[in-house]
Amino acid sequence: LFSSANLKNGGRPPLTYQSFVATAGEPPKPVMEKYSELPPIGDTGGYELLPVPKLEELGYGDLSQEYIPPFRGGETEALKRMRESLQDKEWVAKFEKPKGDPSAFLKPATTVLSPYLKFGCLSARYFYHCIQDVYRSTKTHTKPPVSLAGQLLWRDFFYTVSFGTPNFHQMEGNKICKQIPWRENGELFVAWRDGRTGYPWIDAIMIQLRKWGWMHHLARHSVACFLTRGDLVCMIYTIARCILFV
Ligand SMILES: Cc1cc2nc3c(=O)[nH]c(=O)nc-3n(C[C@H](O)[C@H](O)[C@H](O)COP(=O)(O)OP(=O)(O)OC[C@H]3O[C@@H](n4cnc5c(N)ncnc54)[C@H](O)[C@@H]3O)c2cc1C
Repeated sequence: LFSSANLKNGGRPPLTYQSFVATAGEPPKPVMEKYSELPPIGDTGGYELLPVPKLEELGYGDLSQEYIPPFRGGETEALKRMRESLQDKEWVAKFEKPKGDPSAFLKPATTVLSPYLKFGCLSARYFYHCIQDVYRSTKTHTKPPVSLAGQLLWRDFFYTVSFGTPNFHQMEGNKICKQIPWRENGELFVAWRDGRTGYPWIDAIMIQLRKWGWMHHLARHSVACFLTRGDLVCMIYTIARCILFV
């Protein structure tokens, strides 16, 4: 969304969402140039062209036997999906991320545009400004961090902090990551990865990830906490909260 967020704030990434939003300001409009023809094959502009991997190399066998996820790839599909989400203006205006149902299966509670954004099928700026167009046509709308536009700000907050923090992708050498003496247990890890923990909610989500390549945000929290904090710790935490706050 933003090209210069890292240059502001003295070159240091803002470490809270609110300070990121205040620093980043309003994202620029998307670049809308149209190209009538593609550059000739072989003209890579000096970049090395990597070969397209074969399906077998990606771990797929006989495609007729494979489960095909419901999300088709490509820009046309991305734009269609975005327009379908945004045509329900009331839904967009009232969007509050924490209130979405992570178990909504046939019609997910969020846009499922993250794979399209990740693979460059959809411009984050274009999506952001289309949301703003919807906001202009509604009387009121929710605000960041829970609003739909606020979700794209989370995305850029993540990229800004990860770009500006050495070793952000790992614990070691990462100054803003809590240092934890992890226990290694390959068997339990594989059970978690393959949806064989015996906890139906956790297993269902991991199977959804394996089959669809996507899961709801709150489902990601569930499986991530289950892996890193353990269900027992979470249960104790929930009971403690009930005792403290009820
Ligand atoms: C443990 C964990 C792992 C995650 N892993 C990824 C990941 O690998 N890739 C990824 O794109 N997002 C990740 N997220 C963030 C978020 O869960 C997904 O972006 C979101 O669920 C994608 O679904 P959607 O497109 O329907 O989101 P929507 O709610 O429709 O949001 C629209 C877009 O905003 C962005 N967005 C929304 N929430 C976040 C967030 N919290 N942080 C950053 N960007 C956000 C995404 O690009 C998303 O497509 C993770 C969150 C958690 C808790």
